[in-house]
Parts: sequence; structure tokens; C-alpha cells
Amino acid sequence: MNDVWDLAVVGGGPAGAAAALRARQLRPDARVLLLDRADFPRDKACGDGIAAHCRDELALLGIPDLIADHRPARRLAVVSPGGARVSATSARPNHVVPRRVFDARLVDAARARGVEVRRHHVRSLAVLDDRIVLDGTVTARAVVAADGANSTMRRLIGVSPAPDRHTAIAVRGYADVPADDDVQSIFMQQDGWPAYAWSFPIGDGTANIGFGMLLPRLRATGLPGREVLHGRLAELLPQLSPHDLRAHHLPLSPGRPRPGSGRVMLAGDAAGLINPLTGEGIYYALVSGRLAGEAAVRAAADPLPAYRRELRKALGRHLRTTDVLALAAQSPGFIDAAIDTAARRKEVFDLLVDVGLGAGTVPLPLALAVVRRWIASGVRRR
Ligand SMILES: Cc1cc2nc3c(=O)[nH]c(=O)nc-3n(C[C@H](O)[C@H](O)[C@H](O)COP(=O)(O)OP(=O)(O)OC[C@H]3O[C@@H](n4cnc5c(N)ncnc54)[C@H](O)[C@@H]3O)c2cc1C
Repeated sequence: MNDVWDLAVVGGGPAGAAAALRARQLRPDARVLLLDRADFPRDKACGDGIAAHCRDELALLGIPDLIADHRPARRLAVVSPGGARVSATSARPNHVVPRRVFDARLVDAARARGVEVRRHHVRSLAVLDDRIVLDGTVTARAVVAADGANSTMRRLIGVSPAPDRHTAIAVRGYADVPADDDVQSIFMQQDGWPAYAWSFPIGDGTANIGFGMLLPRLRATGLPGREVLHGRLAELLPQLSPHDLRAHHLPLSPGRPRPGSGRVMLAGDAAGLINPLTGEGIYYALVSGRLAGEAAVRAAADPLPAYRRELRKALGRHLRTTDVLALAAQSPGFIDAAIDTAARRKEVFDLLVDVGLGAGTVPLPLALAVVRRWIASGVRRR
């Protein structure tokens, strides 16, 4: 019996680390194993933007100061596809922390809490009556599959990935910027919309910069992906010369699959939880990981229904909101109207930040204000 783990977590990114941390936080005697095919620290293609909302999650996990030594960034500037602009101070500061640092700290925190961390690339899974066996060697009562966008675990349990129309692809690199640059900037592009570039200064004289677009729009160009992504990045941020360019898929939440099967719970990118409006996924990885870890120890006999229920409570309304907004955002004019409204009304700016980076929803009167501006601008253009 000693060889049976209460929880095995596959993947040590934010989702997996959160699951492991939460399980031990709620049940300090739980036997929790965290497997990752990489040793930490490891790089991950990402914008490194850690939204203020993530810090709420870190606090819930009992590690509120994990990134307290990194410079907070309050200013956010957005240029819409049609050229509307907003530049404002966020209600709460965001951070930019290279994933090489952020993820390693999360895994270290899990280790310090008694989680056993092993380097192991999971390739197979067997389902027994009351347990799961990974690669014929690791037996666990519950498994959190947090192995990222191209999740092997998701495939092994027979859950389909996000369809291409709900998948984005983005490239990121690092470039020199003035050390006092502390504005997080987003430059949207009409051509191939939805598409945008970003510059997220880290605070050490470098910035994480990148460009992302929907996969079908990239394919429609008929050009090699690398040429399109690198070319658009250079076009939108011509003054910067990035190095360490690296691209990855982003499974967007409108294409999210069911969040698991039997005793296997999918979390983070493996559960397709990336915000379709912004490409942010770390917050949703932390929330879903925490809830999966919680279900593994609180509802050990049958964790998936408990996980599903709590996930729905935490993110259900938000996900339905972004499903609808992602449809409306297919029209660049809608985003122009939203950014234009945000530039005039600070409460709309704050709300867009909450919807784009956290679990925010849109109250009907505000949605109507944006729609009215959208219609009015369409009428003016005619
Ligand atoms: C270019 C780009 C920019 C982005 N920018 C941002 C941003 O600025 N802010 C933001 O919030 N989100 C951003 N995202 C999204 C964010 O990166 C993801 O949502 C987030 O990393 C999801 O975390 P995760 O823990 O689910 O998966 P991951 O961070 O991908 O971690 C998965 C882990 O699983 C391991 N693994 C994979 N397969 C196996 C296996 N078979 N066995 C064992 N281990 C395995 C991997 O080694 C990895 O450590 C961006 C994404 C991209 C591609």
C-alpha cells in the first residue's frame, strides 16, 4: 500500500505545482508526487506576464511573497486594431517574471512542503478499479494532468484537444529596453485579426516581447509559420531586436474539453483554459490546479465530479462571458469600440483587465455601452 501515492501530478508548470501545493496544504500527510520531463529551472515560451490575480492565488496557496522581489508594473497601454488607444494605471500591479524563475520557485515551494519531485517523462497510463498506473511504475489514487498545451495525458485518457479554430500560436523573445521602461504595451493588428504583439518590460533592462495570432489565420497566409510570426513581430516592434525566440500553441478556452476522465483531472493548458481575448493562462492554470489538488484530497473516492463542480463555481460565468466576447471580438470594430470606451471610462478599463486577466464578467449595462459605440462607429464609417 505504501507504494500508492494519494496524488500524482504530471507537469510542474503553474497548474501542476498549484495542485501539488494545495493537496499538501489541505492534507499535510498526503503522499504527493510531482513528475516533469524537465529539470527545473527550465524555460517555457511565454510572455512572462503574471497578472495581479495570480498573486491572490499564490496567497491562497500559502506563498504570498513568491515574486515580491520583482518590480510591480502598473501602467498598461493598448492600441486596438483600428488605432484606438488607451493608456492607464491598473487597479492592482501586474508583474513580469521569466518562467525560468517563476516555475522553479513554485516547484521549490512544493518540494519544501513535502511534495516529492522527480524528473520523469510520462508516456503511458493504465486505469485500474481504484487507481491509475503511470508508465507501469507509478501508482496513484488520483492524477492531475498538468502537462501543458500538447498534453500527452489528455490524449491517453481519450479527451480531444481544442479544435484549430480555438487554438492560437505565439512567439516570444527577449530584447533590450531602457531599464526605467515599466509600461506593459499591447499592439493589435488588423491584418490577420485577431493578432497582437506585446512588450512586457521585466525591470532589468530587458523586456519579453512577442507576437501571437490564431492558428487558422497563420495557415491562411500560406507562408512558413516562423516567417509570419517573426516577420510580424519585427513589423510591429521594429526598434527592438529579440533573441531566444521560441513559439508554442495556446489552447483557448472556447475550445476547452471536458476536464478529465475517471480519476484523471486536467488542469491549466491541458484543460484548454487560456483566455481567448488576451492569451493569458497562468492565472487559470493556478486556479484549476489548486481546485484539482483540492478535489484529490477532499473527494479522494471520486475526485472528478468535485473538481468539475468547483471549477464551474470559480470560472463558469467568466468562461461563458469570454466565449461570447471572443465571438464578438472576431470583428475588430468591437475591440476598437471596447478600447475607445475604456479610454474614456476608467471603470471599463478596470473591467476589461479583470475579464482579460482574471475571472471577471461583464455587467449588461457596460456590454451595451460598448455595443452602442461599436454600432455608432460603424454608422460613422459608412
Ligand atoms: C508565447 C506565449 C506567451 C504567453 N504569454 C502569457 C503571459 O504573458 N501571461 C500568461 O498568464 N500566460 C501566457 N501564456 C500562456 C501560459 O504560458 C500558459 O497558459 C501556462 O504556461 C499554462 O501553465 P501549465 O502549468 O498548464 O502548463 P505549462 O506551463 O506548459 O507546464 C507543463 C509542464 O508539463 C511538463 N510536461 C509536458 N509533457 C510531459 C510529460 N509527458 N511528462 C511529464 N511532464 C511533462 C513540461 O515540461 C512542463 O513543465 C503564453 C503562452 C505562449 C505560448
